[in-house]
Amino acid sequence: MTMYSVGKEVVSYCGKCKLSLGHIIASMLSDKIDKVVCKTCNSTHKHKDASAVKPRKMVLGTKVRAKAANDDHWKSAIEKAAQFLPYTPQNHFKLGDTIEHTKFGQGLVEKLIDADKIEVLFREGYKTLVHGK
Ligand SMILES: [Zn+2]
Repeated sequence: MTMYSVGKEVVSYCGKCKLSLGHIIASMLSDKIDKVVCKTCNSTHKHKDASAVKPRKMVLGTKVRAKAANDDHWKSAIEKAAQFLPYTPQNHFKLGDTIEHTKFGQGLVEKLIDADKIEVLFREGYKTLVHGK
């Protein structure tokens, strides 16, 4: 087991230099390195184990995938739509209605939440709107 102590050199990832470089340990938290001073740019920062720093991967998260699915769904619904009803909170909408919203654009009524709320799929995602007020 390597014993680290203040003043010793350690390889740490420097956020400023964006490289794993030699650093001097500035402070310890029990047996762990707390802060280090970069020998290259002289900045003091938390120790980051160089091996723990992985390059950022472009991962398609579930959110992104869900959005893509919504997007396709939205597109096909909008393409099939015969007419767009202008959205006002006073209008009463049915399931499957396609509406035109001044802010969100064209949307599809996907769900009747209750007597005065509907869930509408817009290009940017689902929005809950009031209707039949
Ligand atoms: Zn540095």
